Order: sequence, then C-alpha cells, then structure tokens
Amino acid sequence: MTRIIVVGAGVGGLAVAIRLQAQGHQVLVLEQAEEVGGKLGVLHHDGFTFDTGPSLVTMPHILEELFADTGAPLSEVLTLQRLPVAARYRFPDGTELDMPGELDDIPAALDDALGPGTGDQWSSFLRRAERIWDATHGPFLESPVTSADMIRMALRPADLLRVAPWRTLRGVGHRYLRDPRLVMLLDRYATYTGSDPRRAPAALASVPWTEQAWGSWYVRGGLGTIATALRNRFEDLGGRVETGTEVAEITTSAGRVDGVVAGMKHRSADLVVANADAHEVYDRLVLDHRALREGSRIRRTTPSLSGFVMLLAVDDPPADQPHHQVLFAEDYDAEFDAVFGRGGSHRPVERPTVYISAPDDPAVVPGPRTGAWFVLVNAPPHDTGLGTDWDAPGLANSYADQVMAVMAERGVDVADRIRHRIILTPADLERRTMTPGGSIYGTASNGPRAAFLRPANTSPVPGLYLVGGSSHPGGGLPLVMLSARIVADLIGRSG
Ligand SMILES: Cc1cc2nc3c(=O)[nH]c(=O)nc-3n(C[C@H](O)[C@H](O)[C@H](O)COP(=O)(O)OP(=O)(O)OC[C@H]3O[C@@H](n4cnc5c(N)ncnc54)[C@H](O)[C@@H]3O)c2cc1C
Repeated sequence: MTRIIVVGAGVGGLAVAIRLQAQGHQVLVLEQAEEVGGKLGVLHHDGFTFDTGPSLVTMPHILEELFADTGAPLSEVLTLQRLPVAARYRFPDGTELDMPGELDDIPAALDDALGPGTGDQWSSFLRRAERIWDATHGPFLESPVTSADMIRMALRPADLLRVAPWRTLRGVGHRYLRDPRLVMLLDRYATYTGSDPRRAPAALASVPWTEQAWGSWYVRGGLGTIATALRNRFEDLGGRVETGTEVAEITTSAGRVDGVVAGMKHRSADLVVANADAHEVYDRLVLDHRALREGSRIRRTTPSLSGFVMLLAVDDPPADQPHHQVLFAEDYDAEFDAVFGRGGSHRPVERPTVYISAPDDPAVVPGPRTGAWFVLVNAPPHDTGLGTDWDAPGLANSYADQVMAVMAERGVDVADRIRHRIILTPADLERRTMTPGGSIYGTASNGPRAAFLRPANTSPVPGLYLVGGSSHPGGGLPLVMLSARIVADLIGRSG
C-alpha cells in the first residue's frame, strides 16, 4: 500500500484523493484552511448561503464519472439541475438575449434577439468548435501530454488545420461571426481560463461548444455542496482529511520526495500530490534545484486574471431576474487591456462586464422574496508592486459602489434593496486559498503556446505530482477533475 499525502483540499486535491483511495492507497489530505473546497468556497451570513467561487457547472458527466468510478452515483448525494436559460446577455446596444440551455434551440433564439442570420453564423462557428473539441480532448485534455510538439504529432494533418494552433480565439471567431455581439459572446469564453481572447489560442473555441452541448447546470443548495460531497466520499472510502494544517515544505531525500513538513512535524509519504498553486509549489515548498528551475519558468508567464466579487443579500429581488446574467462592457478590449496591463499598469476596469448569479433556490435564502446574489467582475490580480493593491484603504468599497452604479445603468438597480453587501477582492482570494495574487486559473493561456506551457502533472522531482487548475490541463471544475483523473492514472500505472 502506497502512502500518499495530498497538499490541499480544493476540488483537484479531493478528486485525486478519492481516486487514489479507491485504488487502495493510504491517502492523507492536508488543508491549510479550516474548510475544504478551496476556490469552491461558501459563505453563510444571516440565513443566506453564498457560493464565493464557481456558480456554473459545465460538463457534468465528468463529476458524475468521478462518483460512479468510486462507489455510489452522484445522484445519491447531489441534485444537479439543468438550467432552461443558460444566461441572459445584455449587449452595449441594449439588446438582450436569453441563451437557451438546449443546443437545438440556440439558432432560433439568436435570430430572434440579434437578427436573421446570426443563428447560422453561430452554428457554423460551433461546428468548427466541435471538431476542435473532437481533435483535442483525447490527446490533450485527457492525457498527461503538455508539449505542443508532441500534441502536433498526435494530431492528423486535417485536425491540425482545424485546431489552428497559430490562430487566436478572436481570430477563429472572426472567420464565422460577423455580428459584433457574437464576437463579444465568444470573447467571454476566454475568461473561463482567465485569458485574453485576442491572445488565447483558437483551441479555446471548444469551451462554448462543451457548455452548449452539455448544458449549464446548478446544484441544489449551492455549488459549495460539491465540496462537502467530495469530502464525504473520500472519508467513506477510508481517507483522512486534516484541515487547519499548512504544509510548509515538501521534503526530499536521495533525490526523491519523502514527505512533507506540516505543523512543525515531518510526515513521511511515498508520494506527494500537490494541489497548492504550482507557482507556490516550485518557488517555496520544494527546496530542490529542479523545482526552482520550474519556478523561474512559471514566473515568466502571465498570471490569469482574478475576480472582484460582491455577495449581495437582496430583499424583494426583481421578479424576472434570470439565474445567470451578463451585462457586457461598452468596450470589451479596454477591459482586457486593464486587467492584463496592456498600455500601462494592471488596473481595475472602469466600466467592467458584470456577471450576476441569482439562484432561484429556497435552500440558500432565509425566506421568501429574498435573494443570495453573487456578482463577479474580471479584475487584475492583487499586486502590491506596480499593479493593483486591493488592500489599499477605501478601494474595495469605492469599486463596489462603482460596479453597482454600472449595474444600475445597465438595468439592474438593486442598491436600495441590499440587506448586506460582502466584498471579496483578489487579495482575499489570495489569503483564503494561498494563490499568488488571487489569480483564479494559474497562468493565463495568452499566446499560441501558453496552454501547452502549463506545469505538467508530473514534476521534475520523482514522487511529486501536481493536480488542479494551475497545472495541466487547466482551471475550471471539469478540467480540474480531469487533472485528478490523469494524476490518479499516472500513479496507478506506476504502482
Ligand atoms: C470567483 C470564482 C468564480 C469561478 N467560477 C467558476 C465557475 O462558474 N465554473 C467553474 O467550473 N469554475 C469556476 N471557477 C474556477 C474553479 O473554482 C477553480 O478552477 C477550481 O475550484 C480550482 O480547484 P483547485 O483544486 O485546482 O485549486 P484550489 O481550489 O485553489 O485548491 C487548492 C487548495 O490547496 C490549499 N493549499 C494551498 N497551499 C497549501 C499549503 N501549503 N498547505 C495546505 N494546503 C494548501 C488551499 O487552501 C486550497 O484549499 C471560479 C473560481 C473563482 C475564484
């Protein structure tokens, strides 16, 4: 039986721990926070339950597969609900689009809301996106391979043309989408990996395809219940979680990993799987020249964007509020310029795109006619150097007022209905999850090769593996769970 320590109880850490425990290993998860879940966080306040991280489940079959592979099915522990309207989009010209949750209904809805022909434009784009997904998910997203050259070799020439690694997401969109509102719609999917659509690779076209093909989902009681379900499954299999236990070092002897130091104690292990941010792992946790080399490589990449979050306890919320709503910025390029520091330093976006999640779920509110709203805008990571210091006195509150004013101008004015407003800045996310700057997805996929330059799931230090959103294949719940499957397979094969 192999003794394995998992550093961190985010979704990646818990998912890999479940799979490894189910394989028959002896797994211990050490988490520095008092709760499990990491970025999949929950905050309870005055009878309201707020998700502080993810609000949307895509590709639910990946979560279902994890539970089915390791015991009882997901449906016995969580209730997933497919949303009939994926999101309401409001464009700068005032047009509104209720994006249907079923793929077949999308073209007609686009024609109705944005004008004849837009449904066809989006459908032809999606056909290309589907082919990109077909070509890449096996050799790239579901395999440990990260090298661009090896992936190129794995693709047939026809697939290579479809994936077009030399093209950007915006570039591939322009080939199909003539309506600027469709371009905005597509651009937003770059933010699912914390990236800039003008620099992210065309391969990210598979993100809207997967969302629309498999639907947009909610979990009754809030997405935070996923973390509890993962912990329960792990413990039911005999695994052990220690919360409030920070790992200060991942130790080596004779050139390979032999355990960790946590709570001033050395804990021996045959293997260590790090769910902590890859940058932290290589820069701070493993004192080994091979790790430090990786650390300096990651330091040269662009961090993904972060998020500025407001949790709003709303009295008497507007009756027609959809579950998800996106109020697009007048100038989307200016938004990406600000968060990625183009043409100056990184800065909060003056008039950002605003995302609102307002679940219609009695389990997350104290009573009728109340709402537990999650509001998110893209934000530059916390940076006390030349970027944005989110701890600067007054900044969080004044920026929250600014975002609420923008919401009101775009038709969602709830300022006089707010019972409580809780603000979570990138600095808060950094402190809560030990993620540098509060970057949500590790490194950004900015640049044609960037997606292929993510830290691999295997490390240069034998016995050390990486799992989670800052490593291959990337962030977001489905990919994080795929990374757990990849790592569990690698360890299973090696044992
Ligand atoms: C605001 C926001 C909105 C999002 N929206 C969505 C969405 O709608 N849909 C979606 O799919 N994804 C979304 N995401 C992304 C998703 O939450 C993440 O990709 C995913 O949860 C990351 O999981 P992880 O396991 O990789 O990392 P993390 O959740 O960061 O977990 C890492 C864990 O390691 C712990 N740790 C770190 N260092 C140490 C140490 N030294 N010792 C012990 N423990 C340590 C941390 O405390 C943390 O619990 C969102 C994220 C945020 C923040």
